[in-house]
Amino acid sequence: MSVQTAKQVYNFNKLQKRLRRNVGQAIADFNMIEAGDKVMVCLSGGKDSYAMLDILLNLQAHAPIKFELVAVNLDQKQPGFPEHVLPAYLNELGVDYRIVEEDTYSIVTDKIPEGKTTCSLCSRLRRGILYRTASELGATKIALGHHRDDILETLLLNMFHGGTLKSMPPKLVSDNGKHVVIRPLAYCKEKDLVRYAEAKAFPIIPCNLCGSQENLQRKAIKTMLQDWDKRFPGRIESMFRSLQNIVPSHLLDHQLFDFKTIDSHSGVIDGGDIAFDTPALPSRFVDEEDDEPQIPSGERLQVIEIK
Ligand code: SF4
Repeated sequence: MSVQTAKQVYNFNKLQKRLRRNVGQAIADFNMIEAGDKVMVCLSGGKDSYAMLDILLNLQAHAPIKFELVAVNLDQKQPGFPEHVLPAYLNELGVDYRIVEEDTYSIVTDKIPEGKTTCSLCSRLRRGILYRTASELGATKIALGHHRDDILETLLLNMFHGGTLKSMPPKLVSDNGKHVVIRPLAYCKEKDLVRYAEAKAFPIIPCNLCGSQENLQRKAIKTMLQDWDKRFPGRIESMFRSLQNIVPSHLLDHQLFDFKTIDSHSGVIDGGDIAFDTPALPSRFVDEEDDEPQIPSGERLQVIEIK
């Protein structure tokens, strides 16, 4: 084995370990999978869903609890959809699966005028079909392949265009109230998933077969986040951590926090006020193991001016 190959193997093992750890942690934090669950893994043919299935299969083999996995792909009859790719891959893996064929493509192209974005109707139809399939299969959980960067993009989209502070929850009840939807990749970085998919040579099915325009607002936010990631190492990690450290008393939603009853007898709430202090930002260092900036506890850098 050459030195180069040994290094590649080392890096791949590290990446695989990190992704498995991220998924295991998210599943534990949100109690996503329990003993006896039948998890329907939604497989679009994109890098994220392949990685999700791959990691869940590994977890299933090593977890102390027993649960079932069934992969489901929805063939929406888009022109050029390579219908042999997923069955060949899934047969080789030996995993239980179902391919659901529904011509949503024709419905969408029929209903939506040319040039208009078709994604919202398409997603609604797909959701309904997947929920129905979950019922038919007796699945207790529906796993979707959204990752950390999807969650941050959605957060910013909602802030910029929706006037709400919300994102994609890692676990929720489906619109029809019948299923629990989980996102086991919630802690995984997209760039890790890209590298993993390349290393594993997943047979990716292109996602532009329907010919729909990409969501331009989401694309703009993705580009902005990727640019920040290069120019300000640690910013994305910090933004994501902020979603796990919410302080309602220091926001402005009076439905969420009871500001009205605060008086001088209430005591200091969540650290009180920093209005008279110089804003403080943490300094950063690079964690050898993860190659990503971390914030050491207790180490603070005073920032005099923020532009
Ligand atoms: S990109 Fe195409 S397949 Fe995907 S949601 Fe939009 S219309 Fe549907």
